[in-house]
Amino acid sequence: MSIQYGPDYVRAIAPYQSGKTIAEVAREFGLDQATIVKLASNENPLGMPESARQAMLDAVAGIGRYPDANGFDLKAAITAKYRVPQEWITLGNGSNDILELAAHAFVQPGQAIMYAQYAFLVYALATQAVGARAIEVPAQDYGHDLAAMARAITPDTKLIYIANPNNPTGTFLPAAAIEAFLKSVPPEVVVVLDEAYNEYLAPELQHESTEWVRTYPNLLVSRTLSKAYGLAGLRVGFGIAQPAVTDLLNRIRQPFNVNSLAQAAAVAALGDTQFLQKSAALNAAGYVQLTEFFDAIDLQYVPSFGNFVLVKVGIDDHAGARINLALLKRGVIVRPVANYGLSQWLRISIGLPQENAIFIDALRTVLKIEAEVKAA
Ligand SMILES: *Cc1c(COP(=O)(O)O)cnc(C)c1O
Repeated sequence: MSIQYGPDYVRAIAPYQSGKTIAEVAREFGLDQATIVKLASNENPLGMPESARQAMLDAVAGIGRYPDANGFDLKAAITAKYRVPQEWITLGNGSNDILELAAHAFVQPGQAIMYAQYAFLVYALATQAVGARAIEVPAQDYGHDLAAMARAITPDTKLIYIANPNNPTGTFLPAAAIEAFLKSVPPEVVVVLDEAYNEYLAPELQHESTEWVRTYPNLLVSRTLSKAYGLAGLRVGFGIAQPAVTDLLNRIRQPFNVNSLAQAAAVAALGDTQFLQKSAALNAAGYVQLTEFFDAIDLQYVPSFGNFVLVKVGIDDHAGARINLALLKRGVIVRPVANYGLSQWLRISIGLPQENAIFIDALRTVLKIEAEVKAA
């Protein structure tokens, strides 16, 4: 018998499946990389802001030295933008880092972590990584059922993840619902409010959630530079919480978890409101483009508040995988979500207008062929 290393709960983890890269799809399907459209990882179709690119190039000269472990300049930029003290900030290697740090800092093996059905998969992974017990609360209309979550809290529940908007469903919880939930959670339970898509919300839906951090010492707000700010490849995000929470996160984080190029680029991107506005406007237009098509051919989709749309492409349990493969053969990469228990659905990231158009054409053709095969 071969030796089994590590605890059972680590061996039980299924590896995270990321979106296929353009190079992978080109190799697998014999396609020209230049013709491939990738709408699979909720990246910003504009790429990185020019301001961030310039800041990063300037920072290259200092790459022989370690990064600033305390991220002074980046924290100053966050402080200025969100009007929170520097002691409230934890920098992360992507906000994924913040989500994981929270599990490691606040939960012991055997204790419980709560999240919603269809919520971002990283919550389940972080739960497993620390040997915690998952409390997965059934979704309501593909989103969080906060009342049910409040009722499901057990004495050993130490951490709750809320994604707002949620990925992959795109659902959104209004400020009043979040606030009512925060009021109902016992103060010893840490709540992570993951706002990776906050910058895409219409202004009237945006709430300054850092205000809640002032009132609720058990709240950790998590933000990322990967989506609207266009820096996914650099890996930078941050958490905002009162010192009692922030101090613990900073004790277990790697001292140099955010590299110098990422820090420099993030400072520039945070100040680039023009880029942010352009990204949000492009996204809003792309959402209309995609959903008008879905409406026209009667495809069900979940109304989305993020930079992606979850659409139902069939009624059998292989529909998502089958349509995904057919799209891949046509050089269109989207995201199958069977691993979320959504095997009839695909998640489409909103791209540039011409990328959305290529996807629309490909899906129209693929569904037409499906219908013809079924009729024959
Ligand atoms: C993309 C995403 C993140 C963050 O990703 P990072 O690149 O690690 O910052 C966090 N939460 C949700 C719900 C996401 O979709």
